[in-house]
Amino acid sequence: MGLDCRFAHSIGDNACQAVSPLFDKKARDLTHNEAAAILNYLRAMASCRSTIPPRVPASAMARCASPPNSTESSSGMPPATTTPPRMVPPAPPGSPPTSSTPSPAFAVVLYRFAGYLRSRWGATKIVWGGVGGGSGKNAVDCHSTGHCIDFYGATTSRGGIFDVRRDWYSRPVFLTDGKTHVSVGGGLDKDRWGNDHRTSYRLLVNKDAEEKLPDDPDYYNPRARDFFLDVYQFISDECNVGPNDIAPGALKSGATIKAGFTIHPDYPTKLRTSHNDHMHFQLGATLK
Ligand SMILES: [Zn+2]
Repeated sequence: MGLDCRFAHSIGDNACQAVSPLFDKKARDLTHNEAAAILNYLRAMASCRSTIPPRVPASAMARCASPPNSTESSSGMPPATTTPPRMVPPAPPGSPPTSSTPSPAFAVVLYRFAGYLRSRWGATKIVWGGVGGGSGKNAVDCHSTGHCIDFYGATTSRGGIFDVRRDWYSRPVFLTDGKTHVSVGGGLDKDRWGNDHRTSYRLLVNKDAEEKLPDDPDYYNPRARDFFLDVYQFISDECNVGPNDIAPGALKSGATIKAGFTIHPDYPTKLRTSHNDHMHFQLGATLK
């Protein structure tokens, strides 16, 4: 489908036509130059919009085309605001980054991720870390070179606040007999899967008789199950998918999770302990 180039006169119809097919390409399939072309186009469109004086006829406004993302959602929800979500660093842990330096292709991922969450959930704020700076554990990794992200949660107009720690990690892991899984550890390192390497998406099973009110200390967002499934769908559509990354439909059906690129509180190895407050996802190699 690409871009609608009917109104792109300000930057040139040819420029729009040239970049249009790239908007249909998965981020993981973009070359460096293709990703840079998308960013240059978006930059040109943004500067075009910012140079239009406030009171001009609508016909003049049409000279600058709309951003490429449709604001209509597939769920039939009303169009979202065109203001992109604010990207903010997480509260502790970690120090706030002073700058973000994503690779061109990963910048396209971030742009699409913001548009996706805005369109699907009315996101106004995204809490993230680790783009252009890592923990320092590895001399070079996808964090330091800007092609992965740690996603902590978001504030949305359609579902309220979603927090990986509160709404996913802190939820019980139920067994098929209705009992909770044996845990190991305590505090914020408590592992509700114990030493189990056979895990599934825990939010599919909710045995609580009643939902908590937002001011209850044990409150959790009852829509988290669908929100994080949506995030997983986006990752599957745009980012790394290897043989160990199960499909979104499999995750949703309760299939056993494998140790793929995307790491989260239900990851089947002990890496889940250090990912109990965020989802990690990436493009390309981990240690590069
Ligand atoms: Zn990470």
